Amino acid sequence: MRRLLIAGNWKMNNTPSETLEYGRDLKARGLNDLLPEMLLFPPALSIPALQKALENTPVKTGGQNIHQEPKGAFTGEISAKMLADAGCDYVLIGHSERRQYFGETDESVRSKIVRARETGLKQVVCIGETLDEREKGITSHVIIRQLKEGLLDFTGEDLKDMVLAYEPVWAIGTGRTATPEQAQEVHALIRKTLYDTFGSAFSENIRILYGGSANTSNAESLLSEQDIDGLLIGGASLKPGDFFEIITTAHKLMKKG
Ligand code: PEP
Repeated sequence: MRRLLIAGNWKMNNTPSETLEYGRDLKARGLNDLLPEMLLFPPALSIPALQKALENTPVKTGGQNIHQEPKGAFTGEISAKMLADAGCDYVLIGHSERRQYFGETDESVRSKIVRARETGLKQVVCIGETLDEREKGITSHVIIRQLKEGLLDFTGEDLKDMVLAYEPVWAIGTGRTATPEQAQEVHALIRKTLYDTFGSAFSENIRILYGGSANTSNAESLLSEQDIDGLLIGGASLKPGDFFEIITTAHKLMKKG
């Protein structure tokens, strides 16, 4: 069984002081020995507070975005090197909100993977179709295009630290979750596409997370699907109690494994 990964994307929520409070609450619940790896993506300014509050726990931190250039005159932006130097292990790349509101493309995803790799940041790369694309019946086409374009020119070795997240855009922050069967169908397609491109060892080892209104009620059924290796959770990760409950669910499934 692949190692399950539970990750939370806070988006533009939680100030540094709110983050300290959250981190202390989560730590007090007892995080050790539950999962080998858990991950939170706080806003950049709150990263040090989270690291401080969750010291000596297996929870890692990541940045929600990096610029595609290594440094320079890009006011308001954050570089891969800055996140790495701040002690982050991961970076989120190509989230649908970045694609939708900030013009990110499969090409910028590619450049950001390069930047992340240069600084040792592991990548969580998001892909997913819009409602319109699903209704037109072109989900597979869109997923394969995002994979081929976003990962073009990389070798399996280059991408050994990458995690993929399938996040149907119509399910993000809408309360409308993909059914476990719908999610599994796309996860299997992603794994098959990776198998065709990078071979069996790569496709067997890579973790593919599901994201889109995942919560305490649907986590178990989603995580029980064969090709779902974890969850990327937005709204439900903002409550330490809910995030912890989902971690506990993943722990139980791994034990049964
Ligand atoms: C996300 O932002 O990656 C996400 C999945 O959000 P939500 O869980 O709120 O749908």
